[in-house]
Amino acid sequence: MTYSVKELFYTLQGEGARTGRAAIFCRFSGCNFWSGLEKDRENATCRFCDTDFVGTDGPGGGKFASPQELARAAARLWQENTQDRGRPYLVCTGGEPLLQLDEPLIEAFHDAGFEVAVETNGSLPVPKTVDWICVSPKSLTNLVQKQGHELKLVYPQENIRPEDVADLAFKHFFLQPMDGFGPDANGQDTEKFRQDNTRKALDYCRRHPQWRLSLQTHKILQIP
Ligand code: SF4
Repeated sequence: MTYSVKELFYTLQGEGARTGRAAIFCRFSGCNFWSGLEKDRENATCRFCDTDFVGTDGPGGGKFASPQELARAAARLWQENTQDRGRPYLVCTGGEPLLQLDEPLIEAFHDAGFEVAVETNGSLPVPKTVDWICVSPKSLTNLVQKQGHELKLVYPQENIRPEDVADLAFKHFFLQPMDGFGPDANGQDTEKFRQDNTRKALDYCRRHPQWRLSLQTHKILQIP
């Protein structure tokens, strides 16, 4: 199988339970909830995406002809950035990574020494060999992955409330304020949109301590 990767880069995880941890991010191309094209946004299953996952033209991106080729590129990037003894960590994201992340690729990442995490919309089952599962649901009807380590709900959402997923089998429950998407979010000023949603998420967490606030620190601090 050939893997299409939008970008492959070294950074710090910016959100959720593993905020601040050094990681290779492997952003796979494509998503089953949106084409990634603005003309399709209005009719997409997920309409608030703020990520460019179209094509393979980002830093480190490309087409990789085998699991080993992609795992080697990730391992090279890790070694170029650190020789530390901390366990190499790789986050598979997208787009929807599970459209492409399969057992042979997970095995190749493991063979290269990586602990493997996935950030998924939960519409496809996560292979059992993945080490850390973060589900960020966008549609209740499409939710099939109902257990994992971290449930990260973008808030507020039209189609899912925290109450709808609070009983699922996750260790951590995070609310993440919906960010502005594009220059003009729902006709509002983007910064105001973000602030309003942060206040709403904060209020909800205060009233429901099961939930913790997750902020996108990489955006706030402009971590590359
Ligand atoms: S599911 Fe995730 S990657 Fe896909 S369109 Fe929504 S936010 Fe973007």
